[in-house]
Amino acid sequence: MKPRYDCSKCPGYCCSHGRIAVSDYDIRRLARHFGLPEDVARKRFTYRYKTKDADEQILRHQKDHIYKSICRFFDKDERRCTVYAARPNVCRRYPYGNVCGYYGFLKFERAHQDDEDFIPSA
Ligand code: SF4
Ligand code: SF4
Repeated sequence: MKPRYDCSKCPGYCCSHGRIAVSDYDIRRLARHFGLPEDVARKRFTYRYKTKDADEQILRHQKDHIYKSICRFFDKDERRCTVYAARPNVCRRYPYGNVCGYYGFLKFERAHQDDEDFIPSA
């Protein structure tokens, strides 16, 4: 099914999600991509998020000027992923269909503000 969203017109909202969980396979793929040992990649790119309800290995973030923070692999000027070929599975699957809720929201707000570049606070 053809996607009904255009990531090139979006400032990368999904990459600002606070908990982007990765698997061991994802970490191995990132390690290969950067030519690093797996344990170095795990520590450099991810950290363990553990609460009474969750135990996940998640991508580290960096500060961002649009969202509060964003994935460390995101290019904040170009607004795109810098490891696209090696991105984790969850990034490949998102938004789990041919519609992205945030993109719909963005389009709606841009039409109402009559401003193609408007970015609503999420
Ligand atoms: S939030 Fe939606 S439109 Fe924006 S980059 Fe992510 S998938 Fe693409
Ligand atoms: S790895 Fe790439 S696609 Fe996935 S959250 Fe980070 S910047 Fe976004």
